Amino acid sequence: MEFRGFIAVNNVTLSVNEGTVHALIGPNGAGKTTVFNLLTKFLTPTRGQITFRGSDITALKPAEVARLGLVRSFQISAVFPHLTVLDNVRVALQRPSDLATQFWRSSSILSTLDDRAMSLIDAVGLSSYAHLPAVELSYGRKRALEIATTLALDPAMLLLDEPMAGMGHEDIGRISDLIRRIARNRTVLMVEHNLNVVSDLCDRVTVLARGEILADGSYDTVSADPRVREAYMGT
Ligand code: ADP
Repeated sequence: MEFRGFIAVNNVTLSVNEGTVHALIGPNGAGKTTVFNLLTKFLTPTRGQITFRGSDITALKPAEVARLGLVRSFQISAVFPHLTVLDNVRVALQRPSDLATQFWRSSSILSTLDDRAMSLIDAVGLSSYAHLPAVELSYGRKRALEIATTLALDPAMLLLDEPMAGMGHEDIGRISDLIRRIARNRTVLMVEHNLNVVSDLCDRVTVLARGEILADGSYDTVSADPRVREAYMGT
């Protein structure tokens, strides 16, 4: 990917296996966000190809990629602070299809919507908070709600941009458990700075540095690589 002559990501061949939790790590400026932007088509690559579940998505628009099931959870939450947890998830569930709003008056559709919303809220561990305005949630629970709104799109693959950023120990544990549960039937690609989380949670790690892949493999393999230690861990 080239920005006016500056090559931010070069020759990156990244393959993420279905059903795995895959980490993308590297120092600041390595190109991690650019890779996320390329995968979700917020950027179009200057060269190269992106395929998702066998389809070439290189020329698609972000909404089309999301519709195919490749969805990104933003670091800056898209949660509405003054809506309750339940209303936030209801809104998210209605977004993908106009059909639900079309039948807004139908009580059976509404109850189905509520059932689906509650099961998502339950899945992210927020059942006790369903009727609380989002603004009153702890930071970690807000992130869990944000993940619930992303899961409302029923993605096959979820891209998480630093899901543990700014979190304390307890919230990190909670979000790790949530990601493990999500990965039972979905693929997760996450940018994560906390290497304990990476080693604990991720099946595979790709290390980027200066826009190129430095190493790729299990956490133990990449963390033992002297080039990774030099570029990333500073040792
Ligand atoms: P990371 O997420 O790993 O910190 P980024 O993908 O944000 O890295 O950035 C990789 C490099 O590309 C950086 O040097 C950054 O300054 C540059 N870059 C990113 N986006 C743009 C842009 N829109 N225009 C120019 N340069 C950019």
